[in-house]
Amino acid sequence: MTTHATLIVGAGFAGLGTAIRLRQAGIEDFVILERAGEVGGTWRDNTYPGAACDIPSLLYSFSFAQNPDWSRTYSGGAEILGYIRAMVERFGLRDRIRLRTEVTGLAFDEAAGTWTATTAGGGEFTARTAVMAAGPLANASLPDIRGRDSYTGHMIHSARWDHGHDLTGKRVAVIGTGASAVQIVPELVGRAASVKVFQRTPGWVLPRLDRRTPAWSRALFRRSPAAQTAARQAWFWGHESMALGLVWDTVFTTAVAKAARLHLRRQVRDPWLRRQLTPHFRPGCKRMLMTSDYYPALQRDDCKLITWPIVSLSPAGVRTADGIEHEVDCIVFATGFDVGKTGTPFPIRGVGGRPLAEQWARGAQAYKSVNVAGHPNLFFTFGPNSGPGHNSALVYMESQIDYAVRAIRLILDRDLLALEVTRAAQERFNRRIQRRLARTTWNSGCTSWYLTDDGHNATMYPGFATQYARQLARLDLADYRVISRQTEEVTT
Ligand SMILES: Cc1cc2nc3c(=O)[nH]c(=O)nc-3n(C[C@H](O)[C@H](O)[C@H](O)COP(=O)(O)OP(=O)(O)OC[C@H]3O[C@@H](n4cnc5c(N)ncnc54)[C@H](O)[C@@H]3O)c2cc1C
Repeated sequence: MTTHATLIVGAGFAGLGTAIRLRQAGIEDFVILERAGEVGGTWRDNTYPGAACDIPSLLYSFSFAQNPDWSRTYSGGAEILGYIRAMVERFGLRDRIRLRTEVTGLAFDEAAGTWTATTAGGGEFTARTAVMAAGPLANASLPDIRGRDSYTGHMIHSARWDHGHDLTGKRVAVIGTGASAVQIVPELVGRAASVKVFQRTPGWVLPRLDRRTPAWSRALFRRSPAAQTAARQAWFWGHESMALGLVWDTVFTTAVAKAARLHLRRQVRDPWLRRQLTPHFRPGCKRMLMTSDYYPALQRDDCKLITWPIVSLSPAGVRTADGIEHEVDCIVFATGFDVGKTGTPFPIRGVGGRPLAEQWARGAQAYKSVNVAGHPNLFFTFGPNSGPGHNSALVYMESQIDYAVRAIRLILDRDLLALEVTRAAQERFNRRIQRRLARTTWNSGCTSWYLTDDGHNATMYPGFATQYARQLARLDLADYRVISRQTEEVTT
């Protein structure tokens, strides 16, 4: 069997970005394993009406693969998917991608210094290094509501939209009021006969100033990539400054709350509805919602916000705690994803064959979010504590990718058997991270998908994107065991 230089799990932004940077670093022998029939990850799966990014496209794209032709400030899902597909062609990645190849396990062979991925079809792929790019939000999650199986109408999850099911003229329930729901509801209202939105917790909403990109700016960006880089930088620093109000609870958090309250007051006249839509936690504690269309949609005659807790689903619809049965033809679950805060998406066995899921049972942790002790030559994208609360996920992703590529280059150039972060370095790093997290808004008392049930934050990075990038700009070999193929330990 061929031993590749690198195997990459997942052909979303992170997997494809890694492939591009490997190539640019002169590493050609890699393979990308993707469980679906097409590339694109999030943007292949989330095709619900209204799907769009909520970070401006100039910043929600790779700096090494700029696109001068974004049609809007915040492009729609189809356009983002088009960008991802175009990258595959532009960087000639197609022949490296194995579609319909679901990885079911990843195991390290200590003697050979290789990772072997087993796949659902019974195949095996072996490589000297591996990159996990299986996505932080790749697995849709349905809430555990009593009676879910008894419902006889149609059910759709936002991340697996059923385009064959026409909702025109139907009575629709939307469960959830997070980032996907606030994009879906305005699209359904007016098309469906009625829309009932079931809210558990209202989120903080800021207006989304979406504009069609003027022709002159596209022409400028086509002529001058430097001008586009400057515009990207302006967006970056604008978002970076938002950390002051969203990551930590400061006077800026109060300013964000004021801006969001003003937006609510401007868009919602009815004081009772305003009260129902006012959050009881500090901005930033849960993901900020960016929309200018959601509140107006909620106030249309054919839309209703329901704040009574859901008790169960019935054959006809949704039962709430006030005893009402809401009869609907279709239920849309905008209920998010199984986020890997504990365990791993499939068994990963490192040194000694020990499952990583055991180590992560009470909360995942890693070194700089990328490496894990006992798992040499393995690199995570969106590993533990790498999540952004205020800036583009792709900015964080680029740092992770470049760190991994630098380490992979080192492993190949120095013919290493293993490059493994030490447990001491990982623990030191995590003590610091958890100390810093204690001072952030995410750990200030609200419940969110960022935290495990016992309150451990294994998802978010407690700082600026600039700080995150700076720690990953350097591969500090003092924190690693570096073992050459001749089994003599290299002193670092
Ligand atoms: C609806 C939505 C909107 C978002 N909008 C924004 C935004 O505006 N701004 C922002 O900064 N971030 C946003 N994000 C977060 C983040 O940017 C995206 O999730 C991004 O696509 C992550 O890229 P990824 O490559 O890490 O993961 P994904 O895009 O999820 O790609 C992972 C890939 O791995 C594949 N895979 C998973 N498991 C296996 C397996 N076992 N074997 C083989 N293949 C596997 C999946 O099929 C998928 O193709 C959004 C997320 C969602 C869900």
